[in-house]
Order: sequence, then structure tokens, then C-alpha cells
Amino acid sequence: MENKSKITDKLSRPVKDLRISVTDRCNFRCTYCMPEQIYGHRYEFINKSSLLTFEEIITITEILVEMGVQKVRLTGGEPLLRYKIEDLISTLSKIPGIKELTLTTNGYLLPKKAEELKKSGIDRITVSLDSLNNEIFKKINGRNVDVSKVLKGIEAAEKAGFNPIKVNCVVEKGINENSILEMAEYFKAKGHILRFIEFMDVGTLNQWNLNKVVSSKEIVKIINSKMPIEPINPTYFGEVASRYQYKDGSGEIGIISSVTQPFCGNCTRLRLSPEGNLFTCLFSNTGTDVKKFLRSNKSKKELESLIKKTWLARKDKYSIDRSSNPDKSTKKVEMYHIGG
Ligand code: SAM
Ligand code: SF4
Ligand code: SF4
Repeated sequence: MENKSKITDKLSRPVKDLRISVTDRCNFRCTYCMPEQIYGHRYEFINKSSLLTFEEIITITEILVEMGVQKVRLTGGEPLLRYKIEDLISTLSKIPGIKELTLTTNGYLLPKKAEELKKSGIDRITVSLDSLNNEIFKKINGRNVDVSKVLKGIEAAEKAGFNPIKVNCVVEKGINENSILEMAEYFKAKGHILRFIEFMDVGTLNQWNLNKVVSSKEIVKIINSKMPIEPINPTYFGEVASRYQYKDGSGEIGIISSVTQPFCGNCTRLRLSPEGNLFTCLFSNTGTDVKKFLRSNKSKKELESLIKKTWLARKDKYSIDRSSNPDKSTKKVEMYHIGG
């Protein structure tokens, strides 16, 4: 296989991060991701035989680690719904070359699963929570789930030794921007790293429009008004969150400005969907079908070559292009499918 450092895409970006969506199912129905009106009881999710098996996921990951991937994130849908996810984690955690194995979850199942996740080899956990206000959070998650359920999940993760925890908060205008300060105060006191995410136009079903985005500038202003913060340097090339520290030295927050300050130039991410498509951008509409290859009698060499070709051909910069043409509407894969 070609030397790792030589595998760069058309915009000279190396492949460094792999996001694996292990299931398209979820126990929440967040309005910005899987709106209940569309993903009701009759919605047909991917059937089990069409999901990539753990062995298949591992084969793809090993090839990508050879190509330069150093960080792997398990996501979904809700990754903790995938049966025996711990078995996958345990094998992934033993692949030499993976420097960080992480997982993003809505937190609901963490009280049951946190300890096992730690034991099987997850290095860091990100929990999503959009408000501490029950009424607001229940409306957003679409399943009437209480804030306390997620806070219990975060507590369980703390107890299992995941510290600090990252907490993702998607901010949508008119929905939860009044929760920003309360969230910042709460997680500052807890010592966890809160990350505000601008509401994105992922997929086609979440009724996104630019007027619903609270910009990172506005978010910084709101926090600064009560708890002064200042920007700090990224910890590594390709880090998507802009980091800020509290001037009183009590921790940091992150802001992901994918809409107002796109970071495509540094984007080193590749995404593997539950049924085996590789997507080179969060806003892709088609992927490379690696399952077809895995389930045919093609050799591993041919699979390596397909994956390499996929990265070499990559020229995605959707968010940069969106800034110059904000109302552009294209066919795009949904977030719960491709993994956040
Ligand atoms: N179910 C898990 C969770 O919610 O943490 C993992 C999958 S979820 C798709 C991954 C992340 O994407 C979450 O933090 C979620 O808030 C974020 N997300 C989903 N839809 C989004 C959107 N339209 N804009 C911004 N972030 C979004
Ligand atoms: Fe489920 Fe996560 Fe999407 Fe919410 S954001 S619906 S928890 S996959
Ligand atoms: Fe990466 Fe695509 Fe997002 Fe740009 S729009 S940062 S290329 S995933």
C-alpha cells in the first residue's frame, strides 16, 4: 500500500478521521435530524442483513488506518442501540494505529452501558444535549425524554472514568438559544466541554433555512456577556470546533461554525454508513458502495484500491460553496444515516 502521507485528495487533504455510523435506528426523534412526522412507527429502517457486519467494519477500518486514519468515532443513529457494540469496540481498540476511539450518543442508554464501553476500549465520549429546560428538550427530542435521563447518562459516564466529557448542543433560532447561558454555566461547573453546533442543512427533511441558524458570533457574544471567554489554539490539524477558554481559567467550550465559518479546507473526515457506503462529505448524495465489494469475491487488494480511489477523487467543499449560494438545494443523505 502507498505511503500514508501521500494519500491526499484533490484539495491536498489527508484522510485522518473515520466516522462509522453503526445503525440508522434511534430512540429519539430530534426535530433537526429525524423528525417524528417522517420517522413514525411505519418507517422502514435498514434490515439486519443489509447492515455491515462487525467483521466488515473492521476490514474497512484496517484499510483506512493503513491509509492514514488515526481517529475513529462510532455514531449513528444511536450507536448504543447496535447489538453487542462492545464487541466491535473491543476489536477496533486493538487496531494498531488508531490513536483515539470515541463515541457520540444521546446518552439515554449510558447508565446501562458506560462501564462496559470504558472496559471495551472507548477513549472518549460525546453526549448530545440541547437544553436543560425540560419543556424545550422534550420538544426537540420528539420522544418526551426528560433532561434528567441524559444527565444521568452523563453522570454514569463520569463514574465510568470518561472525564472530561464533551457535550454537543445544536442551537436553533427560536427554539433553544435561550438555553445557551444556562448550559454553559452548568457544564463549566461540572468541568465538561460544551460544544455549540450551528444548526446545519444536513439531509433534506429538517426544514432548515439560514434564518434558523444562530451564528457562532452570536453564541460567543451571549456567553461573553456573562462569562468572559477568549479564543485558544486548535489542538490538532483538522479540528472542527473553534476553542475558547473561560478567562477565569475554569475550562473551555467549543463552537462548530459549519454554516457561518466553514472549515472544508481542513476537512480530513470520511464517513462509513450502516449499510456500507463511504461518504466523503456530510452533504454527499452518493457514496462508494464497499459492501458490494466485501460480499463479492473481489480481493482485499481490489477493495484497498477502490477506497484509495474514492479519497484521491475527493473534492468536496459543500459548506464553502453554500456560503456563496445559501439557498442551494441538492439531494443529500440524512444525518442519522451518515452519522454526525
Ligand atoms: N444519536 C447520537 C447523538 O445524537 O449524539 C449520535 C448521532 S447524531 C446524528 C450526531 C450529532 O449530530 C449529534 O450531536 C446531533 O446533535 C448532531 N446533529 C444532528 N443533526 C444536526 C443538524 N441538522 N445540525 C447540526 N447538528 C446535528
Ligand atoms: Fe437520534 Fe442523534 Fe439524530 Fe437525535 S441527533 S434523532 S439522538 S441520531
Ligand atoms: Fe467536510 Fe463536507 Fe463539511 Fe466541508 S461540508 S467540512 S468537506 S464534511
